[in-house]
Amino acid sequence: MNEQIDILIKLQKIETETSRISVILKSVSEKADELDTKLSVSEQTLEAESSLLDELRKKYRSYEADVKDNIFNIEKNQENLRSIKTNEGYQLLLRTIDDLKAKNSQLEDEMIACLNQTEEAEKSIASKKDEYLQLKDQTAVEKHTIKQKSAREKKKLAKLHTEWRTFSERMDPRLLKKINMVKEMTGRSAIARVKDAICEGCNMNIPPQMYNDLQRLDKLESCPYCQRIIYWEKPSN
Ligand SMILES: [Zn+2]
Repeated sequence: MNEQIDILIKLQKIETETSRISVILKSVSEKADELDTKLSVSEQTLEAESSLLDELRKKYRSYEADVKDNIFNIEKNQENLRSIKTNEGYQLLLRTIDDLKAKNSQLEDEMIACLNQTEEAEKSIASKKDEYLQLKDQTAVEKHTIKQKSAREKKKLAKLHTEWRTFSERMDPRLLKKINMVKEMTGRSAIARVKDAICEGCNMNIPPQMYNDLQRLDKLESCPYCQRIIYWEKPSN
């Protein structure tokens, strides 16, 4: 039984180390996702602003075309003025010309506003592009570090799996079956130490009789609360 307890202790250490590494791997992968998200948000912002800039430029070109059309019409109408015979027709055409001139003056104001907006947008895009490129470099460096760390931890994990297999081969098959069942059922560690009558897996007080049995070191029990296989470790002094 003592040998079984020793193996159990060893297995528990492997279990603890395995879950510690799993936590590291999870946080490392979350960190990588976080970096990707940050970079993609930066990229999307840049794209959104660039398409806004395209819109502004398009708007400016359309204003410009309207102004040109109006100038053409003003000149044509001014030419037509010479051939108008009636005073009424003359006044009408003059009003049309004035309207077109007013429209152009309005359009020119819009164009100035549009140019100002364009300039602002260009400045903002330039600085956002710098930020994006910086972030991209930084992300690449950080992700490289993460990848290395992840590879290191995965190697350790593989080693632990091998160790688990080696030690579990020496374990009483029935007990091992139970351990694997608890692991599968709960998705967490299946072995816990009992110290001062408390199961360290769930922090519950185990029944006194069970504690006595455990201390005699001739029996392995399951914690009645968390189902983990529990053992009592003889104080080392
Ligand atoms: Zn327990």
